[in-house]
Amino acid sequence: MRAFITGRDPDSTSSHRDVASGGIRAAVLGAGDGLLTNVSLVLGVAGASASSATVRLAGIAGLLAGSFSMAAGELLSVQVQKEMALHELEVERRELSEYPDAELRELAAMYRARGVPYDDAMTVARILSADEKVALDTHARLELGIHPDEAGSPVKPAIFSFVSFAVGALIPLVPWFFGSGTAAVVGSIVLGALMAIGLGAVTGVMSGRPIAKMAARQLAVALVAAGVTFAIGHLLGAGGG
Ligand SMILES: [Zn+2]
Repeated sequence: MRAFITGRDPDSTSSHRDVASGGIRAAVLGAGDGLLTNVSLVLGVAGASASSATVRLAGIAGLLAGSFSMAAGELLSVQVQKEMALHELEVERRELSEYPDAELRELAAMYRARGVPYDDAMTVARILSADEKVALDTHARLELGIHPDEAGSPVKPAIFSFVSFAVGALIPLVPWFFGSGTAAVVGSIVLGALMAIGLGAVTGVMSGRPIAKMAARQLAVALVAAGVTFAIGHLLGAGGG
């Protein structure tokens, strides 16, 4: 997802496993956002004792607005990361052409820091510095943590964010396509709670933390959000008439 800049740690290398788990992580976060948004929205509108058509409309609007916003945010953030990386590359390119000796020593120092003996480090640095493109690539990877060849397209993560948010947002909305009133409210709460528990459990597995605790935490957040908006919706609905 965000492999373009992997941080300045020269040891950070991306592997397929990281990319896959990054995708799952993004999906869990996106679905969690969607769930929280629409559990709140659906129950808030339902709390004002609106018709099920109104709840459906609000839920669908929330789903679309949130999904587009997530996708747009992803597009922008990937784009900004890309532009920042390109800028840093440009600075490095300039430094390489203006201060080749300093850059050579800098490169050798990075290998020495990794345990390569002085002479060998100088030899490696000289070989890598001989070719302009190789030199820039090496400095980018070791010094900036930028992987110039992995400049991923922002389209895939944007679609991914859209879909995962939409799935999360759809869950608490489902009962309102089949029912109304208290039954649908209960349906939203039950489905939302089950999904929150599921998402929390996945988070626990991925972070290596206690699964039950993570599931309970996610559930608590969803229930509090739902409870607060339901109460506010109820108050506004009763007051406003
Ligand atoms: Zn450099």
